[in-house]
Amino acid sequence: MNDALPHSVVVPVCDEGAGLARFHERCRAVLEGLGEPYELIYVDDGSRDGSWGVMSALADRDPSVRTVRLSRNFGHQVAITAGLECATGATVTVIDADLQDPPEVIPELLARWRAGADVVYAVRISRGGEKRFKLVTASVFYRVMRWLADIDMPVDAGDFRLLSRPALEALLSMPERDRFIRGMVAWIGFDTAVVEYVREPRLAGRSKYPFAKMMRFALDGIMGFSMRPLRLATWLGLIVSAGAFVLAVALVIARLLGHIPVQGWTSLAVLVLLVGGVQLVTVGALGEYVGRIYNEVRGRPLYLVRERRGFGPGHDDPAPDRAAARTAGPAGAAGTAGPAEHPPA
Ligand code: UDP
Ligand code: MG
Repeated sequence: MNDALPHSVVVPVCDEGAGLARFHERCRAVLEGLGEPYELIYVDDGSRDGSWGVMSALADRDPSVRTVRLSRNFGHQVAITAGLECATGATVTVIDADLQDPPEVIPELLARWRAGADVVYAVRISRGGEKRFKLVTASVFYRVMRWLADIDMPVDAGDFRLLSRPALEALLSMPERDRFIRGMVAWIGFDTAVVEYVREPRLAGRSKYPFAKMMRFALDGIMGFSMRPLRLATWLGLIVSAGAFVLAVALVIARLLGHIPVQGWTSLAVLVLLVGGVQLVTVGALGEYVGRIYNEVRGRPLYLVRERRGFGPGHDDPAPDRAAARTAGPAGAAGTAGPAEHPPA
């Protein structure tokens, strides 16, 4: 524990211009109340609504604000990673910009950290203002994930959580490109603690997780942390083959006994469709993994930075080193540019 280091707060932002100033006010009030140094890192994930302007104005006014502008929308999980890579704090807390995760919970997270935890999850005990459909799909997802994934992921914990410096270093040492951060945090282990909170309705704007994106996110989680779909494919293949074998024997016997009627189109069509379906599903599952391997092997940088503000000359910027470490992985993906460094404005 090093008290000279600040507490970092990472905020991924995508089209949150309408509520950002309000978020900043509330978050700042909480952080000032700590009486310890802090830094607030806003990551602009390709917003198109002027969020960057709002963030820049905050950075100009407030010396504890740092802003990073990604070159386009890279997605929530990558935006979080970009923020984590810039964080210099003894602790780093990830929080959404839409005030669904109340900043007032941060002191509780810090209290658990002081008591010795390296990872403090904020777990939602209720979620206000969200549609029933989202609640049901989210609940099903966490439970399916728990069953499928090879790691123990806490149910109903989103990305609102605190990491200690050692936990953060461990997380950032994971080079994968398909970043499912809640799974990755569960994977690193360390001492964990849980703080419960009530998830509030969104302050302004709309959720950026429509159904299709949520499905994609769920797939990322399952494929990234479990080989079970491949195993399921094998089992499915075995079961269908065994069924086919039994059926074949029965048919031969029936033929020998002269029981085969002329009809049989229905059963044939059903069988062809069934086997075809099973094959497509299993090939699809295989393809998912192959695509992921391709993604890793290409070794592109995870994101590109267009602009930064608030990283004064006195502040270390660990991002380029980190990017170099990632691209120097065993895949030999050399020659890719890390996040571009820009002089602070
Ligand atoms: N976000 C982001 N990039 C994206 C989508 C979302 O940085 O591509 C940010 C968004 O601004 C918010 C947080 O991630 O601060 C969570 O997104 P959202 O509130 O849309 O998700 P939900 O709470 O509905 O699951
Ligand atoms: Mg939200």
